[in-house]
Amino acid sequence: MSGFLPLLGPDDPMPYRITKATAEGPFVLVSDHAGRAVPQCLGRLGVSEAEWDRHIAWDIGIHGVGIELSRLLGSVLVEQVYSRLVIDSNRAPGHPTSIPAISDRTEIEGNRALSSVCRARREREILHPYHDRIAEILRERSGPTALIALHSFTPTMNGMARPWHVGILHHRDTRSAHIMLDLLRQEGDLCVGDNEPYVLTATSDYTVPYHAERANLPYLEIEIRQDLIEDEAGQQSWAQRLARLLPLYWSAISQGQ
Ligand SMILES: [Zn+2]
Repeated sequence: MSGFLPLLGPDDPMPYRITKATAEGPFVLVSDHAGRAVPQCLGRLGVSEAEWDRHIAWDIGIHGVGIELSRLLGSVLVEQVYSRLVIDSNRAPGHPTSIPAISDRTEIEGNRALSSVCRARREREILHPYHDRIAEILRERSGPTALIALHSFTPTMNGMARPWHVGILHHRDTRSAHIMLDLLRQEGDLCVGDNEPYVLTATSDYTVPYHAERANLPYLEIEIRQDLIEDEAGQQSWAQRLARLLPLYWSAISQGQ
């Protein structure tokens, strides 16, 4: 009857962490891969401790960027606390890579041959509460809103070095993306990826299609290369850069340029 036992115990954290807004403003910041917690009953998923420091477990550096950006803008920040190896909050429920059995060549023992009951429990206790909280925050807002999804990417994948410092991923809201791409290019010191290192689609991603595209909200999905935000100095510097550029993006969008 283990199917009826809860996944999260009394010592496990809530699936989301909110940093409250301290100012009026259009931005709702979300960070799907900010955390790498694992529910105690899953026993580290059979994955060695060294692997938990890798990008497969979380978006390295993005928590520090998000917290500082939230402080500088006064914007609310919603972060997923659990590792994407437990369940990926940027994948629709049931997506083939939602609960990966292998990630960047590492086998995730605890995800192999997972029963539908175990899948449903991770969706119910980790994925849905996080997205329900974001939906609630969006619903309660009165002013105009842009959803800003924060991510970081590994500098090399499958032996290939990735040249971009930062990428903007987009699908339907190309207008927002192009404004931000221009602002980033004007910085002069950045290699900027347009839908790099990933292309945003309605099925590859979940957070932006589900919360922003469905509701016709403007959005940006921002990817920062992990080696630039490994330490606190890098995180602060990227937060400061984004805190300077995001209001410029918003004023361009609002003026209908
Ligand atoms: Zn991510």
